Amino acid sequence: MEIHELLKKYFGYDAFKRGQEDLVKGIIQGKDVLGIMPTGGGKSLCYQLPALAIEGVAIVISPLISLMKDQVDSLDEIGISSTCINSTLDLKELSARLGDIRNNKYKIIYVAPERLDNHIFLDVVNEIKVSLVAVDEAHCISQWGHDFRPSYVAIPRFIKALRKRPVVGAFTATATLEVVDEIKRLLELQNPIESITGFDRPNLTYNVVKAGDKFSWIMDYLKNNYDEQSGIIYCATREAVESVSKKLNDKGISAAGYHGGMAPEARQKNQDDFIFDRIRIIVATNAFGMGIDKPDVRFVIHYNMPKNMEAYYQEAGRAGRDGEKSECILMYSPADIVKQKYLIELNSSSDIRESMQYRSLQYIIDYCHTNECLRSQILGYFGEASLHENCGSCGNCLDDSELVDITVEAQKILSCIHRVSGSYGLNTIIHVLRGSKNKKVMDLGFDKLSTYGIMTDYSDNGIKEIAMSLVSSGYINMTADKFPVLKLNQQSWKVLKGEEKILHRKRLKEKKDIMKDKKTNRRESSSKEVNTGLFDKLKELRYNLAKAKGLPTFMIFHDSALKEMAELMPKDKEEFLTVKGVGLKKYESYGEDFISVINGYEAE
Ligand code: ADP
Ligand code: ZN
Repeated sequence: MEIHELLKKYFGYDAFKRGQEDLVKGIIQGKDVLGIMPTGGGKSLCYQLPALAIEGVAIVISPLISLMKDQVDSLDEIGISSTCINSTLDLKELSARLGDIRNNKYKIIYVAPERLDNHIFLDVVNEIKVSLVAVDEAHCISQWGHDFRPSYVAIPRFIKALRKRPVVGAFTATATLEVVDEIKRLLELQNPIESITGFDRPNLTYNVVKAGDKFSWIMDYLKNNYDEQSGIIYCATREAVESVSKKLNDKGISAAGYHGGMAPEARQKNQDDFIFDRIRIIVATNAFGMGIDKPDVRFVIHYNMPKNMEAYYQEAGRAGRDGEKSECILMYSPADIVKQKYLIELNSSSDIRESMQYRSLQYIIDYCHTNECLRSQILGYFGEASLHENCGSCGNCLDDSELVDITVEAQKILSCIHRVSGSYGLNTIIHVLRGSKNKKVMDLGFDKLSTYGIMTDYSDNGIKEIAMSLVSSGYINMTADKFPVLKLNQQSWKVLKGEEKILHRKRLKEKKDIMKDKKTNRRESSSKEVNTGLFDKLKELRYNLAKAKGLPTFMIFHDSALKEMAELMPKDKEEFLTVKGVGLKKYESYGEDFISVINGYEAE
């Protein structure tokens, strides 16, 4: 069958997403591939479809066991036979599956990297024809990446031990140069066809929030946004997870926690409750997420600042995999910076690594302070030139607050840095500017400086905010170490000499900005939902079918497919198959049930 036919028949789509077609064709032509696509970009289809098209069995190496089961279940739903091999199987189940593999019962085998060194698995797959080895989350092989997994090192050994070298495909959402180079080198990809699609996720909105009281900000947000829809709140520590989820529960909000210190059963239960929509919000440490494919997460809030941009983008990227409008909010607080620095110092193994980590941390600090487009800042980090000056959907681009001239304030800060001869950090500068009598200031004789006490009408935070925005716009250099020191540069002198003006966004209450934006979102989406009555009925049917099968609702149909059904109101097989994401098997399993609800609704 031709690839477009397979795409329609099994996956229910008329067209490929960006980047998919090249990779699919490449694999089918027997070439190695490297696919770099953002979360939600559609990586799995890039190896699932060729697996159908070529003779033999595809082996997919994937780091997370829970994700494997989901993938196998979803494939089952669309009529592709697959299985997974991992440590959760007992011996009996394992040997049954190995037997089925030998008998060529499957087109796709998911396997955990830990299993690759096991000679039994190797012997079995050497009895069959392996068409493709697809390495999912390929960045896990890189020590530079943020989720290095030692077990990934076994992959090249495994490929070499196969009777015949199959096509090798690597897939990841991480595109930093070091990581991409390592993937190619360590997996020994042979002249791979590379497809790097843009990293932009147009359906995501970015915001940085500087709230005095984070929890009440969240309460306000939850009241005003996305009624009853799912969201993730990431916290830095287990304690924070416990306390935020308890506080939410006390306020009557459906939420549960997830962190590494919980009993595995309790943690699993909370995760399942979230995936099956039995609770609305999961409050979690970064332990949560890699194995989660829930496509309808409407918001990801970072209660604490993550350690770097890669981690942030990956976690925030769990919002809106289904392509619907969703929000990523980072709550900034200076205390988090101190905590992150402490962690770097604690865990660091070498000076190079330490300074690299400080550099990465600084980037995300700058992200919190910039007045520029947040989307561009993120894309810039991944080496992608941004297309737009104003993306129209991030906190800064939507911010209609005024730009005020703060050249005088900037000059005061800069000359203070000059007076202390560039050897002190931000806190000392603030103390001097505010005329503090603290011991360090007095001992150093800074009360004699001409800049002592020239900003007494400003708060600590006010000065900090201006200074940090000068850092992020390049008017102050901040050394990248544990106790960063502020230094002047050529740019600073232009300001000091009055050759350049500094403008700063005078923010209204951030809160208001986001809510204003939210209301418009809501209006847009409700005008699109022509048939909310029918949509609700279809959702109810989906819920019941999912429950009977023990599957999460999104595995039956995505929200977007139900919306399309409510709009098109298909009456027969042909019409039903025009709905995006509905393949033949789905029609056969559920088509009649849904059509009958549609007919019933119309009769009413
Ligand atoms: P990734 O693994 O890259 O994060 P997935 O493989 O989970 O992305 O796919 C993300 C979403 O995109 C899924 O909901 C999937 O059904 C959808 N999708 C994949 N390919 C297409 C396509 N060609 N057209 C429309 N939707 C697609
Ligand atoms: Zn923007």
